[in-house]
Amino acid sequence: LEPGDQALDSGKPNSSSDLPLESLKKVLTEDSAAGKVKRKRAQTPLEKYYLKYLCVTDLSTQSWCEQQMVYGRELPQLQVPETVVLLNTGKSIHLARELEVHDVVRVHVTSREDSWAIKILNLLSVIPELQAGGCVRELPVFGVIEDVFLMGIIDELCYSATGELELRELKTRGRPFMPSGAQKKRDYFQVCLYKYIFDAMVQGKLKPDVITSHIQLRPEQPLGSQIREHAQKVGFTVTCFGDLLELMYLNLTLSDIPGIDCLKIEYSHQESNTLLGTEVVRFEEEKVREKAQHYLAYWKGQREVQGVEIEEAWKCQSCSYSEICDWRKKRAEGPEQRTVKKFV
Ligand code: SF4
Repeated sequence: LEPGDQALDSGKPNSSSDLPLESLKKVLTEDSAAGKVKRKRAQTPLEKYYLKYLCVTDLSTQSWCEQQMVYGRELPQLQVPETVVLLNTGKSIHLARELEVHDVVRVHVTSREDSWAIKILNLLSVIPELQAGGCVRELPVFGVIEDVFLMGIIDELCYSATGELELRELKTRGRPFMPSGAQKKRDYFQVCLYKYIFDAMVQGKLKPDVITSHIQLRPEQPLGSQIREHAQKVGFTVTCFGDLLELMYLNLTLSDIPGIDCLKIEYSHQESNTLLGTEVVRFEEEKVREKAQHYLAYWKGQREVQGVEIEEAWKCQSCSYSEICDWRKKRAEGPEQRTVKKFV
């Protein structure tokens, strides 16, 4: 309680400047009527879409065109069918690759904590594999950037012949050639974010309370019976969600798993399943942070949504939302200059 609240609560003034209760009520009523009482602040996009966290792919998609990412969330039914087919085929290929190294087990969940427990168990179960120098696929990673919780799934982590920990991201393409520079830039940002989050995790920066406070989960929540049974099978005895969080924190920080040394993106052609090429990505922490800061400012309501800048207007030609795009219309109409922050 603030001192003023106390005065309202007890009906007694607590300083020389305090007014008696009836006078305070009168002042408040008059102020409200005169429109002086603060209006409710506008919702941030995170609040508007009821999001407690973002996916790494939300940010990488945003780096292609932020306005398109927003339309994709609000009007997914307008996406051209070819894009949907391409995405679904990509998902099937990823699942097939995961099944080459993991078994998929169905587990019944009874609470939000149970759903997150599965993600954490998936992570915990691959740590020994990584410690032993093995290769893991579909590794969940979590972290916080600019006070926003982010989640992602790393396609593959392996040790190279020289002992470096290598991240490999698989991108499948509908066309049998390498992507444009702009598409590569989006993919580079995605893998850099994975490294940023993963390295923070193994450096012990992801404390249990960071997860519970951002996602609003209860550490004392008992885990469902199927989750506890599954945890037992993979070697962990746990009763509540907090037990799993502690285990994750300890296992990550005491495991001696290094940070990621090398980032690689493999592009392959969906239909023929042939490798089109491999890109090695340079990680520049400062640039990644600056870029993430810019994109997260939109989610936190610190700036308006932006579309592509004039030099990238070619992106609008293949965009599912070009007919309805507000950004595009205003750019065509107005003398007003719209500027978009440019990253190289
Ligand atoms: Fe972005 Fe252009 Fe599509 Fe609008 S039309 S959403 S600016 S790509």
